[in-house]
Amino acid sequence: MLRDLISLIYPRQCAGCGEPLLKHEEEVCNFCYINLPKTNFHKQALNPVKNIFYGRVELETVSSFYYFQKKGSVQKLLHAIKYKGNHTLATILGNWYAEDISADQAVMQSACIIPVPLHRRKLKQRGYNQSEAFGKGLSEGLNIRLNTTLLTRAEHTASQTRKSRYERWENVEDTFEVAPDDSLKHKHVILVDDVITTGATIEACCQSLQQIEGIKINVLSIAFATG
Ligand SMILES: [Zn+2]
Repeated sequence: MLRDLISLIYPRQCAGCGEPLLKHEEEVCNFCYINLPKTNFHKQALNPVKNIFYGRVELETVSSFYYFQKKGSVQKLLHAIKYKGNHTLATILGNWYAEDISADQAVMQSACIIPVPLHRRKLKQRGYNQSEAFGKGLSEGLNIRLNTTLLTRAEHTASQTRKSRYERWENVEDTFEVAPDDSLKHKHVILVDDVITTGATIEACCQSLQQIEGIKINVLSIAFATG
């Protein structure tokens, strides 16, 4: 009753198209939900997002939920997540993706879900880590625990000039540190990110995670952006 009243005054809007949401709809209207561009990469052993890591880092399942297209609905969803503080939307996307990805054996045998850590400065600005919010949704849907303490950003003030041109271009501002955890030796884990473009951040995370002997890394993201 109160919720109905509030939505009369402040209609809840779809994060994809801006139309008012119906009572049963959460964050995204049914029309947008049906038309969001799923990649279905998890159904292909070799797929475009897995291919970008070829020769760089060895991974198990690599998949993204949606295609990111400039000015498309997925860009609007990510905008709401990153700049409008809509962490509920990120978690809902994780819930939805869990339904699709639960058919994947390598993903399902994972011991934990590890979000790509956010820069401390950005965490302060945004108030939450969008990859963690997505990971929370996956965690709920897959019943695999979220691990937010294993991987952290190693923040340092190395001058930009000491970095390679590649690193500067990629804007990989820092490296990652992994806490020693023997319980994850020879186990599968799921690393989650919001958008994968060149894969530089994921690669840096994996290099740190691979300090754990025999670890097998799956990578899942909300979206995959080509070129
Ligand atoms: Zn919509």
